[in-house]
Amino acid sequence: MAVQQHQLIIGGCRRAASSGALFDVLAPADGRLLAQVARGGADDVELAVSAARQGYQQWSALAPGRREAALLRAADIIAAEGEARLLDNLIDESGSVITKARHEIAYTVDLLRTAAGEVRRLYGDTFPNDRPQRVSMVFREPLGVVAIISPYNAPLSLLAKMVAFPLAAGNSVVIKPSEETPLTALAFAEVLLAAGIPAAAVSVITGYGAECGERLVAHADIDCVALTGSTRTGVAVGGESMKHMRRCQLELGGKSAMLVLRDVDPASAAGIAAQGIFTHGGQICMANSRIVVERPLAAPFIAALKAAAEAIFLGDLRDERSGYGPLINQRAVDKVLAHVRQAVAAGAELVTGGDIVAGLTVRPTVLLNPARNSGVWREESFGPVVSVVVVDSLEEAIAVANDSEYGLSAAVLTHNIQWGFRAARGIRAGSVHIGMHAFQSNAIAPIGGFGMSGIGRSGGKYSTEEFTELKWVSVALEDEGK
Ligand code: NAD
Repeated sequence: MAVQQHQLIIGGCRRAASSGALFDVLAPADGRLLAQVARGGADDVELAVSAARQGYQQWSALAPGRREAALLRAADIIAAEGEARLLDNLIDESGSVITKARHEIAYTVDLLRTAAGEVRRLYGDTFPNDRPQRVSMVFREPLGVVAIISPYNAPLSLLAKMVAFPLAAGNSVVIKPSEETPLTALAFAEVLLAAGIPAAAVSVITGYGAECGERLVAHADIDCVALTGSTRTGVAVGGESMKHMRRCQLELGGKSAMLVLRDVDPASAAGIAAQGIFTHGGQICMANSRIVVERPLAAPFIAALKAAAEAIFLGDLRDERSGYGPLINQRAVDKVLAHVRQAVAAGAELVTGGDIVAGLTVRPTVLLNPARNSGVWREESFGPVVSVVVVDSLEEAIAVANDSEYGLSAAVLTHNIQWGFRAARGIRAGSVHIGMHAFQSNAIAPIGGFGMSGIGRSGGKYSTEEFTELKWVSVALEDEGK
């Protein structure tokens, strides 16, 4: 059977890359060729940005009610047809298990509806003036053309979040999805266009970061860049954005800590911890990949975490019982295994896992006491590997949690309200969750990080703030020339 080929979407038109080049999209589960997709480059970026400039004029001029209706229609299409339009792509190209893919679809509906609600909340302000015959107002205006650069790990819901809120605020978007997951992005853009968002307001250039991604970020006619991706990419994109003195919103990597305090049930804590690290095989920015447990609980907790890890069913991606699937590619597997190997060589205890189940699927892995300068402790492994360290007090636990350049999310398991709040206040992270794992999502919460985890926040009104600019307008009510 002929391999399907997919084109770029530029200003509503499907077109081949200017170079005519294509790249392969492979299924991480079995390596099969899923499709070939246009490999966008500089000329395609040029076309997409110029379409988006026109799209911005059209979309921002539409009455808020019409923008709201289009976003709600997109939500309705996904609610009704999401399984047919998106489920197979999510499973096949990103290696998601069916439960995670369904969750992404449902969350995308939620995000689009939440963004639609933001359309009518572009509030301005007024403020008093010492000269009583003057009136001062603050208008909130869209930025213009927003470049959206998205990652592979939640290729639908993260992209939907990155796109829906800028659109709600009246911006147009040029999307550069991950080269690993272009099919989901193209299918999502088709939904937006079917919902009546002007064709010029949404373009998708598929291709590689070093080719069309870099070109897009460097383009002079972009007003803002939103990136969700690794810290390495964030540093490059942020640096380039500053050269143009343009807004950028960066949601980057994490090495989130979970504190397990002495008053909790170890089996229950282990269940929560396992969910917080092993969901999607640890390919979640907020995964609690570092666990800090108080000594009195350490032995039963580690035994229960080992049992929880070993109980995870790793079967077919379409089997509802499957806990997670393959990592995205061989490079990702090699990085995870190298982290484990190096940590063990430096003295960490391998409690369970540390090897491949089959193909690109890494067994759930628990390490005890890795060196604090090891890769597995300091860097994102982005795989099903969790490090456990044992401490003697809450203060020490907080200090260990803060021993990271990242600060995306954190979790504290305790029933003691004072311990929980002390930890929440003491940990430097964009979110701290008490009584649950670190990987939480909510369409109106401010998601983002401290330190190397990024700049800015996304979700609900926080996205509206990121993707709008303030303008002070004042009026003299009397002729001031007299
Ligand atoms: P990545 O940084 O490799 O790629 C992200 C996107 O950036 C891709 O579309 C890629 O093509 C593009 N890109 C790469 N280099 C570029 C460049 N120089 N200029 C412009 N674009 C470029 O990240 P990934 O591997 O796809 O995703 C995993 C990473 O994303 C992890 O670090 C994870 O923590 C992070 N992430 C963060 C959040 C969050 O909310 N903070 C959410 C999900 C994922």
